[in-house]
Amino acid sequence: MGTYDVDVVVLGLGPGGEYAAQKLAEGGLDVVGVERDLVGGECPFYGCIPTKMMIRAADALGEARRVPQLAGEADVRPDWGSVATRIDKQATNHWQDDSHVERLEGAGVRIVRGEGRLDGPGRVRVGEDTYVGARGVVLNVGTSPARLPIDGLDATPYWTNREIVKVTELPDSLVVIGAGPIGCELAQAFARFGTKVTLLEVADRILAPEEPESSELMTRVFRDEGIRVEVGLTIERVDHGSDAAGGYRISTERGEVRADQLLVAAGRSFNLPGIGLDTVGVDPNAKSVDTDERLRAGERLWALGDITGHGAFTHVSMYQGEIAVRDILGQDGPAADYRAVSRVTFTDPEVGSVGLTESQAREAGLEVRVGLADLAESSRGWIHDVGNDGLLKLVADAERGVLVGATSVGPSGGEVLGLLALAVHAEVPLERLASMHYAYPTFHRAVDVAVRSLL
Ligand SMILES: Cc1cc2nc3c(=O)[nH]c(=O)nc-3n(C[C@H](O)[C@H](O)[C@H](O)COP(=O)(O)OP(=O)(O)OC[C@H]3O[C@@H](n4cnc5c(N)ncnc54)[C@H](O)[C@@H]3O)c2cc1C
Repeated sequence: MGTYDVDVVVLGLGPGGEYAAQKLAEGGLDVVGVERDLVGGECPFYGCIPTKMMIRAADALGEARRVPQLAGEADVRPDWGSVATRIDKQATNHWQDDSHVERLEGAGVRIVRGEGRLDGPGRVRVGEDTYVGARGVVLNVGTSPARLPIDGLDATPYWTNREIVKVTELPDSLVVIGAGPIGCELAQAFARFGTKVTLLEVADRILAPEEPESSELMTRVFRDEGIRVEVGLTIERVDHGSDAAGGYRISTERGEVRADQLLVAAGRSFNLPGIGLDTVGVDPNAKSVDTDERLRAGERLWALGDITGHGAFTHVSMYQGEIAVRDILGQDGPAADYRAVSRVTFTDPEVGSVGLTESQAREAGLEVRVGLADLAESSRGWIHDVGNDGLLKLVADAERGVLVGATSVGPSGGEVLGLLALAVHAEVPLERLASMHYAYPTFHRAVDVAVRSLL
């Protein structure tokens, strides 16, 4: 039991916290990082990286299955074992060699293992010890899978993203509850490996926060690939192993769905209950932690990542980490700006988007103009042939003549998004976008078609 004086305590070492701890230590400060689980957070171990490794393999399979149509016969035998081994190797590397820990300790950060709790301004308690940050505390405690209030669910051993990244044997059938980015990505990956997948969504469309055009296109793609997609339905009850067949029985108002496994991918809960926000004058019942443009959340408190409510993305967490570091070190630099947050759902086709959707722009009272292009009808789409589903949708503020949002669905849709994210971020005038060179025959050349349809 003791009290330890340092410069900064980073509570939770997700991507933003890890980044901030390292940079602050490199900036000469005495930094303690408190972590109860794996240093690096959700993204490297249970989130972005292992799921994208599955998707990389599933996409290779999906593409290989297109070979007969494009180049003659091909023999494609899926082998989940090699994916599981690759993910396990990646995870084991992290768990055993702990490259994240090495990086932080190499920068001079002291890592304290355990459950931390705010205990007044600048103070974090871990067990019997208290760490006092003279400059303050950086809070980066992230999220956990949300627990859904569905009858019977808690009594079943369902999968979340935590369990699914450790799967070594494929189930014959899988029900996915939640058709957001995580549910959609994993539904398609498992389906491509041969699992019979049913995707259930309470909203009236999949990928509901995205443009309706994206939802419609992805629903068609999923159904063409044999995924059963059910939207706008209420799940009444979940039972497990209650009959000879075992497995899951999901009761909905439209009848029963049975499957060997169940993945719940419907929402995330902030790891805020009991974290001690009340001890630093922050409303403990608020939906997220309010921050200013320097990521300050209260007296000697900065907050980063998913808990700030600016999107659950690794790049946002790290972006915020950089701003908080500058503020703590007393350095100048741009303030936080969320106009051009980009996001990608790594399905095939990828669904990339940035800034406002059309309906968000209208709700914001902007004079909205919309530009559209069908990727399949572009030169590159025609050449690409099978697997060329995609679209571009641009949302312009006609008054200012700039884009305020954009969607890029297609093969490499997330990469094409880069051009559009720059346009929204830098407020490039539409005439300037229409006057640039777009290499032929690229997918991004379809941006030109969409821009011209706006003018
Ligand atoms: C399946 C999945 C796929 C994803 N894919 C992508 C993607 O492709 N791209 C993308 O940008 N984002 C993706 N995300 C989101 C991304 O993982 C998060 O946005 C990212 O990890 C940033 O989160 P964070 O900084 O808020 O902290 P987190 O990564 O959630 O980390 C918080 C850390 O705080 C620790 N902690 C919590 N409470 C305490 C406590 N009391 N004491 C000590 N430690 C504590 C936790 O153990 C954890 O290590 C995905 C998420 C999931 C689940």
